[in-house]
Amino acid sequence: MSEKSFFEKIKDIPRRRYITQITPLQRLAHLSQALGGNVELYIKRDDLLPFGGNKTRKLEFLFQEAVDLSADTIITASTVQCNHNLMAILMANIEGMKTELILENWAKSDYDYELDPNKHLYEFAGVSRTVSCGAPVTGPLHTMELALDMKADLEVQGRKPYILARGGTCPLGNCGYILCAEELIQQGRERNLDFDYVVCPSGTGGTQAGLILGFEQAGYPASVIGINVAQKNERQLNSVSGALEGTASLLNLETPQKDKIRCYEEYVGEGYSRPTVELKEAIELLARTEGILLDPVYSGKTLAGLIGLIRSGAIQKGSRVVFLHTGGFQTYYDYSSMKEML
Ligand SMILES: *Cc1c(COP(=O)(O)O)cnc(C)c1O
Repeated sequence: MSEKSFFEKIKDIPRRRYITQITPLQRLAHLSQALGGNVELYIKRDDLLPFGGNKTRKLEFLFQEAVDLSADTIITASTVQCNHNLMAILMANIEGMKTELILENWAKSDYDYELDPNKHLYEFAGVSRTVSCGAPVTGPLHTMELALDMKADLEVQGRKPYILARGGTCPLGNCGYILCAEELIQQGRERNLDFDYVVCPSGTGGTQAGLILGFEQAGYPASVIGINVAQKNERQLNSVSGALEGTASLLNLETPQKDKIRCYEEYVGEGYSRPTVELKEAIELLARTEGILLDPVYSGKTLAGLIGLIRSGAIQKGSRVVFLHTGGFQTYYDYSSMKEML
């Protein structure tokens, strides 16, 4: 399929239009210099998307589905440190829908919603109900059961709930990152640049899967490198390949070869939202060289991974690399997990 008709096909899928312009691609000359000057670094500013992070691209598609189904309430889930939650409430407000939120706590066993720094943001935004599942959450299935119970409750009350995928990751949502791949290809072409690597966080894997599929369909040679933010490759490769298969099948495409999935597990530390020394160094370095802040859960770990790969030579001298900043700043990130390092 030609590149144009492929991306046009994705654009023909109806979606809400919360995003009104493409996100900037900027050169990171100071950071490149600080890392030895052998690799040419760029940053894709998805932190500047409306609502402040990567979920916006996915949720444009999913809210369209909710609107088409005449939903009046969104039920959704994500981890307590994810930009998905607040965004979903705000978008539901735009659409005249209510939100019931399931807050998953994967990290701190003493999580208390009353003390969550984001509680006020959820409540300012008018969340109808929050349910927190304390550690250990046994997995997405556990969350799904809760969501189904909440859905049944609402239906008894005569409401029309829509279950919005966890973190926006599902085949339809992942199409948002196919369109990001197209943006990057265009932005490179305008400057006569071809990128060798795009480095992104690998959480649920939806972001990474969308990028892989977009580049593959366009025949664009950049490899997508995911930096695991939660788990080791034994599980992460399955998450990404599941996202890839589901999205390819929705679009009637062949699933890309498994060897297209590159995930690095070395930077995950003790797990989701657990800080590492390298993460602290990465946050400081980008803030001090380029004036750009990162969060301590996703983008910070991802830059730590990118720096590690440059230092180890896995990203070779002379490479041109895009770091995808997935944002998240509409949520107040709690940096207290790092207090022993600060
Ligand atoms: C959810 C999230 C990610 C991870 O994206 P996935 O598609 O789940 O892999 C990355 N960065 C931020 C800021 C997020 O909130």
